[in-house]
Order: sequence, then C-alpha cells, then structure tokens
Amino acid sequence: MKAAQFEHHEPTTVEEAVSLLGSLDEPTVLAGGQSLIPMMRFRLARPETVIDLNHIADLDFLEEENGHLRIGALCRHVDIEESALVAEKYGSFADAAPLVADPQIRNRGTVVGSVAQSDPKGDWGTVLLAHDGEVVAAGPDGERVMPAAEFFLLPYDNMLGEDELITELRVPTPSAHEGSSYHKLKRKVGDYAMVGVAARVVLDEGVITDAGVALTAVDITNVSVPDAEEILEGETPSGDLFKRAGEAAAETANPESDEHGSADYKENMTRVLTQRALADAVERAR
Ligand SMILES: Cc1cc2nc3c(=O)[nH]c(=O)nc-3n(C[C@H](O)[C@H](O)[C@H](O)COP(=O)(O)OP(=O)(O)OC[C@H]3O[C@@H](n4cnc5c(N)ncnc54)[C@H](O)[C@@H]3O)c2cc1C
Repeated sequence: MKAAQFEHHEPTTVEEAVSLLGSLDEPTVLAGGQSLIPMMRFRLARPETVIDLNHIADLDFLEEENGHLRIGALCRHVDIEESALVAEKYGSFADAAPLVADPQIRNRGTVVGSVAQSDPKGDWGTVLLAHDGEVVAAGPDGERVMPAAEFFLLPYDNMLGEDELITELRVPTPSAHEGSSYHKLKRKVGDYAMVGVAARVVLDEGVITDAGVALTAVDITNVSVPDAEEILEGETPSGDLFKRAGEAAAETANPESDEHGSADYKENMTRVLTQRALADAVERAR
C-alpha cells in the first residue's frame, strides 16, 4: 500500500525545523524512515506534513566532546558499527550496533530515531540507560536535556513534546577502568530482541564503584535495574555476584509470553544474559 498524501519539508537548520514543527498541521519528523515509512504505508501513521531532517548537516555527527560521546540525530546505526572510537571505548554500543535489524535498516535508520520511536524492543534506549545517558531536544524555548532514566514513559511514548525534536544523545565518556557490553537474544538476523541486556561497570582497585544494568523487550519500556546496580556497587566482581545481579534483573523483568517464547523463558534468559553481559563488561574494564 502507498502512503496517504502528505507535504514534505526539507529544512536545512535545526531552527527552521523547530519553527516548521510549531507552525504546520500535524507534523511528523522523518529521520531514517525505517519505522515511519512502513507505518505510513500501512496507514498506521497519517501525518499531514513530514519534516525531513536529512538535509540538516549539523545533525550528522558522532564525536567525543566535553566529557561526552555525542550521537547526532542523523548518526545511522552503521556509523556506530563502523566507528573506531566506539569500538575502542564504548563496548555496549559496539556490541549492539551489528545486532540491530538488518544491514539495509542499519544503513539508513538512526540511533536517535530508535530512541524517539521508544519501542520497548529497541536496543538503543537500553544502552543509553546503562550509561546514564541523556536525550537532548530542541524546541521553541531552546534546548532541553532529559535523563534517559526519565525519558521512556510507555510503549512508543516518551517525554518529548510535540513541538520538539531530538538533536542528540549524550553519554559520559568512560573512565580508565570502565567497561560495558550488550547481549541480545533474537531468533534470526533482522529480528527485534526477545531479551537484551546492557551492562556497564567502573572498577577502582578491583572493586565495582559504579554500575549500570538495563533491559530490552521485557517490560513496557526499556528499563534500568537499580536493584542489580545496588548489588554490584562496592563489591569485587565474581560469578556469584553476577548471579545475584542476574536474579535482580529477572525479578525486575516483566515479560509477556508470545510466539517467540514464554514469559518464564524470557525471565530466565534475562538472568543468564545479565550474568554474561556483566562478565564481559568487567573483562573490558580491567
Ligand atoms: C524489520 C525491522 C527490524 C528492526 N529491528 C530493530 C532492532 O533489532 N533494534 C532496534 O533498536 N531497532 C530496530 N528497528 C527499528 C530501526 O532501528 C529504526 O531505524 C528506528 O526505530 C527508527 O529510526 P529511523 O531513523 O528510521 O526513524 P524514522 O522511521 O524516520 O522515525 C521513527 C519515529 O521517530 C521519530 N523521530 C525520528 N527522529 C526523530 C528526532 N530526531 N526527533 C524527534 N522524533 C524523531 C519519527 O517522527 C517517527 O515517529 C527495526 C525496524 C524494522 C523495520
């Protein structure tokens, strides 16, 4: 099916895009189009106007600046996958990128678009949560910075205002003894996660001083696991410690049975993947 008729706008600056968002009838932002275009073709979305971000060169970046990794709104999944900086320092991002969808979608789809879509099965919100990341938006009143921990409200719903667009995601640059990883269970290439776990640890003389654990596809949004983080902090890494953190993650998880697996199975895999993700994160932190 073809999409219903719509007006297409191509702003070249963020200011222009924000002004269009505030002045047009029922506008929708388009980034990679990998989720929006299929929704428009199936008439699940019928925007009157589409504000295409792809001509705003200022949104196309992936860089470290002022103590943060900054991921611009036009950074594609493939840019993360191919980044030497990410491969060297951001283990969970490097793990997640090649596991997102399939190569075609990764070539066009954006990391920010995935966070904006706020699908509980999306991977990037989970990675962002484990890193204590932030979502930066532009709106009529200027810039707004939202902690990822507060951003996700419901499936496909988040804190972003109708007159705002996301310009970038930020995560703190890792310290010398910090490591992270992402583990994902899916049935085949191109599938969303049945379960995903992001883990991040900071070590100081062998002791975990800070930790982040977050889950994909086992609740109504991507969720953090503060109980697991509390179990880990102040402790020396060990298999037993990871097991206790895995138990906490499984208790936090609230998965539903579907054609891919039972709720019990997903809960169990949350436990297992949390242990594996933590073991990898600690290994990378050393
Ligand atoms: C078959 C399939 C498999 C997939 N598998 C995975 C997967 O395993 N893991 C995963 O994480 N994702 C997966 N995705 C989603 C994919 O990552 C999309 O690329 C992503 O959800 C949307 O990014 P996009 O740039 O294409 O956004 P678009 O499709 O352009 O937009 C999606 C939504 O986000 C809004 N939006 C986009 N950018 C902004 C912005 N800067 N500010 C405000 N709103 C914005 C749009 O208005 C729209 O509502 C899959 C998609 C498909 C079709």
